[in-house]
Amino acid sequence: MRSLCMGYIEEDMLLPFPATSAEARETLRGVVGSVSELMTSHEKDYPKWDKAAEMPASYLEELKSFGLFGLIIPEAHGGLGFGSAAYSRTLQEVARFDASTAVTIGAHSSIGMRGLLLFGTDVQKQRFLPRLATGEMIAAFCLTEPGSGSDAASIRTTASREGDDWVVDGNKLWITNGGIADFFTVFAKTENADKRGNMTAFIVTKDMPGVSVGPHEDKMGLRASSTTTVHFERVKVPDANRLGEVGKGFKVAMKILNSGRTGLGGGAVGAMKHLISLAAKQANERSQFGKRIREFGLIKQKVGHMVVDCYASESTVHMVAALADQGYEDYAVEAAISKVFASEALWRCADEALQTAGGNGYMTEYPYERIVRDARINRIFEGTNDILRLFIALTAMDDVGGQLKELSKSLQGVFDDPIKGFGVLSEYALRRAQLATGIRKSAFTKVEPRLKTHATVFEDATKDLAIAVDRVLRKHGRNIIGKQFASRRLADAMIDMFVLACTLSRVNSSLVASGEEKAQQEIQILDVLSDEVKRRVRQNFEMVDRNEDESLKAIADHAFDLERFAWDTI
Ligand SMILES: Cc1cc2nc3c(=O)[nH]c(=O)nc-3n(C[C@H](O)[C@H](O)[C@H](O)COP(=O)(O)OP(=O)(O)OC[C@H]3O[C@@H](n4cnc5c(N)ncnc54)[C@H](O)[C@@H]3O)c2cc1C
Repeated sequence: MRSLCMGYIEEDMLLPFPATSAEARETLRGVVGSVSELMTSHEKDYPKWDKAAEMPASYLEELKSFGLFGLIIPEAHGGLGFGSAAYSRTLQEVARFDASTAVTIGAHSSIGMRGLLLFGTDVQKQRFLPRLATGEMIAAFCLTEPGSGSDAASIRTTASREGDDWVVDGNKLWITNGGIADFFTVFAKTENADKRGNMTAFIVTKDMPGVSVGPHEDKMGLRASSTTTVHFERVKVPDANRLGEVGKGFKVAMKILNSGRTGLGGGAVGAMKHLISLAAKQANERSQFGKRIREFGLIKQKVGHMVVDCYASESTVHMVAALADQGYEDYAVEAAISKVFASEALWRCADEALQTAGGNGYMTEYPYERIVRDARINRIFEGTNDILRLFIALTAMDDVGGQLKELSKSLQGVFDDPIKGFGVLSEYALRRAQLATGIRKSAFTKVEPRLKTHATVFEDATKDLAIAVDRVLRKHGRNIIGKQFASRRLADAMIDMFVLACTLSRVNSSLVASGEEKAQQEIQILDVLSDEVKRRVRQNFEMVDRNEDESLKAIADHAFDLERFAWDTI
């Protein structure tokens, strides 16, 4: 995305679509098949556990003995040693059946103990990973507090040094696995609690005196999964349990969240696949007006879109996971894109599947309403999609901002000495001019001729993105941070573009591998997505300059002031 903001397509990162080796595919198929069997055996239990808001201990034991808590733990420490792609695919299978189970495993692996994998010392790893792999210890991630959600740097939990120990004091809120965890990755301020940032990460275990958890939260969805408060009252934590450097806890937290996002994306894809099966079956079985409802255009439109959403999400989640597995370090923006797109695609799918089922969709006897309730949280936790949109836009534009700053420094005095000044037209400025005049356009070279029109959509959008980013940054400069309407539009365009690129890459690889006839349906999926992306991206770029933002802000301010709707018809 950083390159795209500069107008460059990094084709080698995108093409060919990352393939799974034959050996890895074999292993994964075996694991996924067994997971499917295990989950199928409890299919009737999930709705009951949802109603009762509980996950029986015997079922947790089954998950443990199956190795589901050791998915990403290296084999040397007793786990399965899965990379991001295999992990995400396995969570997909779990989520096809039950979101509460998927989030229990996901919170353990994606965030609960990932800090140990990323930042732990060898001693810490040897001490905890074997027990985490078997599920003897379940992990939880403790960042959120009553006064600190999106603004994670404002936490109030403290850790003060006392000899070789730290004394941790504070309260954490809505902690997934809180009631069943023995291993907590806890973030606490190690300096002045009033100062932003300056936090440090610690491993705290349940057996330490002063650790306690609150009751099971009664939630809208994921009801069987454990969510509780976690309290730390003068808990003595040895310095040997510190994760990473003192004062670098914010970075630790962000790195954990960035690395874990493909788990959530995989879960969303699994739920979408289940919804497509449900909706297709419903469309085949239900008749109205003397016809099966699958004959109606509006039903086809819904299910068609569900398939496009699922395919695009899966392509994007897999691409990001594969980039992580290939050792790319800088994939935080792309990981955020995969989370935002997949969680919103799931929300659309859940809503449309419920609509396809009509009144049955609203009845608790059927699975739809549970899936809708379960799906909603994905847009809120592990970074709200609003915050992630700002993160995507501001981080991806960072390099352009840097170059513009350089440019403005080097342009100082240009007009005093035009000849010397001409020489400072930096590479960036030259590229910018070439983009604006259309002399140069970054293009795909490895896309099959049949997909050229779709590649062109992406190439044109890349050029327009670079121009829009340049324009926005020149206009707002540092103040871009406060210009959320503009950032959101750029983020939406970036999300669409990256998703299109991943989907194009996958369809291209299918076309090469199986030929046009076999890849026909995938090409049609790309046809639909590419057209939609083209329209949305164009609109977003147009609206960067021409919009009704000021009116909308005034309307919102008016409502904030009154705290009610101001009009009535009587
Ligand atoms: C079921 C569940 C499980 C959870 N599990 C965990 C867990 O395991 N560990 C953990 O640490 N936390 C967990 N959380 C907490 C979760 O990560 C937070 O709810 C989330 O980060 C949002 O914080 P908040 O709820 O305080 O919302 P707020 O931060 O108060 O946000 C409220 C609204 O304002 C928006 N907003 C906030 N700041 C800005 C801004 N600068 N610009 C624009 N919009 C903004 C948000 O997007 C949101 O729409 C969980 C929450 C739930 C509900």
